Formats: sequence, C-alpha cells, structure tokens
Amino acid sequence: MKTITCVDCEEQFSGETKDEVMKTMMPHYGAAHADVMERGTEEGKKQWFATFNERWEQAEEK
Ligand SMILES: [Zn+2]
Repeated sequence: MKTITCVDCEEQFSGETKDEVMKTMMPHYGAAHADVMERGTEEGKKQWFATFNERWEQAEEK
C-alpha cells in the first residue's frame, strides 16, 4: 500500500496499485478540482500524469 499526495492540493490517497489510487482520486478531482479538469489541455494532462507517476514511484511501500 502506497500513499501519495494529490497533485493539486495536500489531500492524501492510498491504494495497492496506481490504478486504484487514480480511481479514488477521480471523485476528489470532480469535487475539489473541477476547474483543473475543465481547463485541462493535452499538455497539462501529460504533466499531471508525469507528476502522479513520479510521486507514485517515490512513495514508500507500507
Ligand atoms: Zn486535491
């Protein structure tokens, strides 16, 4: 189980796999970061995934 911090705020999410964490994050994004999703460009999405992946790789397995 890894815990990572939301790319756009300080909220933390944990899960066994990257997909699981992403799924738990989606409702949070819909509620807290709807603007981020609406304004999302392809470049912005790439950046987001890069940051997400980086945080996932750096998170410690617990
Ligand atoms: Zn957030």
